[in-house]
Amino acid sequence: MKFSIVAEAFERIEKASARLDMTGFLAELFKKTPVEDIEQVVFLCQGRIASSDKGLDIGMGEKFVEDAIAKVSGYSNREIENLYKQKGDLGLVAEELCGKKKQSALFSAELTVEKVFQNLLKIAKSEGTGSQDLKIRLLAELLNSARPVEAKFIIRIPLGNLRLGIGDPTIMDAFAISLVEEAKNDKKVSEKIDSALKEKKPEKRKEEFERKLKVFVREKIEEKYNVHSDLGSIAKKLKKSGLKGLDTIEITVGIPIRPTLAERLPSAEEIIEKLGKCAVEAKYDGFRLAIHKKGEAVTIFSRRSENMTEMFPEIVEAVRKQVKAKEAIFEGEALAVNEQTGEYLPFQATMQRKRKYDIKEKAKEFPLKLFVFDVLFENGKNLMPLPFQKRRKILEAMVKPGQTIELTKSIVTDSSKELERFFNENVEKGLEGIIAKDLNARYIAGARKFAWIKLKRSYRGELTDTIDVAIIGFFRGKGMRTEFGLGALLTAVYDSKADVFRSIAKIGTGMSEEKIVELEKILSKIKTKNRPARVDSELEADVWAEPKLVIEVVADEITKSPVHTAAKKELGDGLALRFPRMISIRRDKKPEEATTVMEIIRMFEQQKHVQIGDET
Ligand code: ATP
Repeated sequence: MKFSIVAEAFERIEKASARLDMTGFLAELFKKTPVEDIEQVVFLCQGRIASSDKGLDIGMGEKFVEDAIAKVSGYSNREIENLYKQKGDLGLVAEELCGKKKQSALFSAELTVEKVFQNLLKIAKSEGTGSQDLKIRLLAELLNSARPVEAKFIIRIPLGNLRLGIGDPTIMDAFAISLVEEAKNDKKVSEKIDSALKEKKPEKRKEEFERKLKVFVREKIEEKYNVHSDLGSIAKKLKKSGLKGLDTIEITVGIPIRPTLAERLPSAEEIIEKLGKCAVEAKYDGFRLAIHKKGEAVTIFSRRSENMTEMFPEIVEAVRKQVKAKEAIFEGEALAVNEQTGEYLPFQATMQRKRKYDIKEKAKEFPLKLFVFDVLFENGKNLMPLPFQKRRKILEAMVKPGQTIELTKSIVTDSSKELERFFNENVEKGLEGIIAKDLNARYIAGARKFAWIKLKRSYRGELTDTIDVAIIGFFRGKGMRTEFGLGALLTAVYDSKADVFRSIAKIGTGMSEEKIVELEKILSKIKTKNRPARVDSELEADVWAEPKLVIEVVADEITKSPVHTAAKKELGDGLALRFPRMISIRRDKKPEEATTVMEIIRMFEQQKHVQIGDET
């Protein structure tokens, strides 16, 4: 397929102001794409060139991208830099300059998806001496044949910043739209939906039928995505065999499974009331890892399904030594421990090894422990449907005693007093609190359900839990020190039903100078000209941003607010955070993993409940 079809679709998506239009354009693109190109097109929508589990990063520095533009357009690096300063986006610079090249191309052929993809793949794979020159040449070769709009998107991919705001849920929605017709022809499915609509008035039935059908298809896709988190390969199956193609997708060692998530309850009593007899585990404040083992091959994924194997060499070693199973998928929390004192180090210390070059050093300075808490797959057997207590037994039998891997501390109880005691013990040790687990629950991939309930130590007078919000824009401050002038952030929670980010707080304080500089750097990359299609906010930010970056905030309470749009649909009024302060940047979370509108509503209700309880 010609790459221009993709670029034109991207152009429409970029200009869309409503999420629905954006999904429609994407569905059209998927319909047009032939099976041999669909995997690549899905990856390109995600701004990558392989599924995230491959750990292939195209990352090319701005300077080298500028060199490629210079090479093709005939403009000097200085001219390019000046234009970049004006436009703030090298994609736009490439678009403009490729439209008025000073030199004509020597050889120029119409670009295909395959060609663009192959060159980008070669860029990602080239390393060692001379690789920078090669990367520039490969990118320049594409620009040479690119029309202006194609150049814009080609340039943004190696910079890791497509600026389209297409998240995985949007991609699944677009596939659902493009497969509705097929599902309609499936008699069994239509009959089932029809019978559920008997009560509806005839004039409403048709519309409702279409809606339900789309939801049905979407759920089928998501079910597989949760256990086989690679949309490229799912897309290929859908395109090849339609919905039936999904039946052949199975749990595979090496392909991430989406993590199960914990609900919140404010007290030990309520947890016992909800779960009855349950397992209660220490809650470690580290880095969640999903570990896939196949013989000696070990792959480690973060909670956002990124391949992190290189960052944790001592854990790879320990898995080979301490895990008896030949094949396994299991989860744990990795955290740094001070060997002298036995103290757990804060999350930030564990994360210091983010920078690739000093992993070995850091591994020595802060050796990690891995506290394992669940097993999903062992020697060819899917363990996810088994009740938690069985999985825990299997996990206990699977791990040999050793230096690095341990099981999480755990008790089983039906007494809230005992739960509370265990909670206090752990908090005294500097841990975050506990997670209670339903003994009979299966592993629920990709969802926040009451199979796990967290209880964290509370900050006095503050909400009992922090909230993760996505940055959707910012306001300029008066008399700020820097040219950028970040005054306050506009942030949002995620409405997972609508796949939209709804505003909840303007955050102006609690940031150190260092954090401001770091944020400004990121914001300059994700700022957009117009309000992104997936952002819902009545406040007008000075500058909008693509919802990409998640930050953790603490606030005094959740209040009703006419200004913010979070929960407005559900409650009539919006919800806002009172006195929000930023605590950290949560790079381990995708924007779609920010706190959801439904969670905020539940936290708001729990808060009322606790306040009433306090007064009596
Ligand atoms: P969430 O994961 O619920 O979206 P979060 O990342 O902010 O939120 P927390 O609210 O701290 O994390 O709680 C859940 C997380 O706690 C898990 O994702 C996991 O990383 C961590 N964790 C620590 N100890 C355990 C344990 N014993 N069992 C399960 N998870 C644990």
